[in-house]
Amino acid sequence: MTDLGSQSRRRSTLGIHASALVAVPGLIASIGVAVAPVSSWASQAVDGAPGVVVVSPQEILDYYTTVAPDGALLFTDRGGVTWRLIDDVDDPEITNPSVEGFFPMDTAEVLDALSALPMDFLLPADVPIFVLPYPRSGLLDSSADEHGIYLSPGMNPVPAETVHQVTTHEFGHIVHHRLLPDSDTKGWDDYRGLRGLEDESVFHQAAAHAYRPHEIFAEDFRVLFGGALAAGDGSVENPELASPQYDSDLESFFLDLPLELLGSTASVSFARVETQWTVSPNPVPRNGRLELGAVGSRSDLDFVEESRANSERADLFDAQGRRVLTLPLVADGAGRWSVTLADLGLRPGTYWVRVGWSTGAKRVVVM
Ligand SMILES: [Zn+2]
Repeated sequence: MTDLGSQSRRRSTLGIHASALVAVPGLIASIGVAVAPVSSWASQAVDGAPGVVVVSPQEILDYYTTVAPDGALLFTDRGGVTWRLIDDVDDPEITNPSVEGFFPMDTAEVLDALSALPMDFLLPADVPIFVLPYPRSGLLDSSADEHGIYLSPGMNPVPAETVHQVTTHEFGHIVHHRLLPDSDTKGWDDYRGLRGLEDESVFHQAAAHAYRPHEIFAEDFRVLFGGALAAGDGSVENPELASPQYDSDLESFFLDLPLELLGSTASVSFARVETQWTVSPNPVPRNGRLELGAVGSRSDLDFVEESRANSERADLFDAQGRRVLTLPLVADGAGRWSVTLADLGLRPGTYWVRVGWSTGAKRVVVM
């Protein structure tokens, strides 16, 4: 349950998904949904949250790994780090004496665990969940960073309860990366205050695992917002801390985090938003013109500008997370894009728009 922090932002990926993805960071998830056949192993998005996609062990082997000349199986994660996968139980890194083999987590259980989370946390997320077929050399545990979640297999079959707990804990890391970044010092001060973590000589990022604020945050998220299997008996990893279960102030603190991203408040704090966009008008008439506008920090806008030539695209998803079509966007060169819906044959309904050069998805109602 390691939190890897920031890694490099940009990376092309291996396999068939890559051809459509060059210089479009943030789109692996939705492309996976679009091109992978629906089968027991294809990547699947959580219902209603097209940005939260579970990538199965078989798909990882097919599309995200390569074999080095020396025979090593290499996996490149979404942050651009290449790992050797340990595919032999006799590998010297495997010291567990009761090892029976490598048992990837059950992707259906992973999806179940994610589906139990409140939509407010799922919607702003743009996170592939890689269900690894083999552990990574040098990092046998599951982990999360700002780009994705990596679930390690067990050395014995992994009980459903563990799958739910680990998945939800790791999603808690995604929540703080996206909604409470370390740069938000006031937000973290507030959290420390609510949780009694003010003593920075005890609770800090280099402390023992259970005393790291990021880990405590992820554990609180698991207990507060996970389903029954994930929440377990309500206790957290740190034996000295009370369960967050009945702490309504703490729960409110968490629930306030995604509101800005979801547009529920009048003022948007860009410190917490990588890049966001506006969709107008909303609702939009079926034969009307939909306009998308980017908003965000200066550096994000620079990034948009730089990658625009390759990423003037937006995908439209239905409420079940299925991609309906790619919108033929027209850029005006000033940070706005538009599309005429007249000839697209859309049925009235609620859709999600996902824009290639940004993260998250935005809801739009077509009338
Ligand atoms: Zn953790």
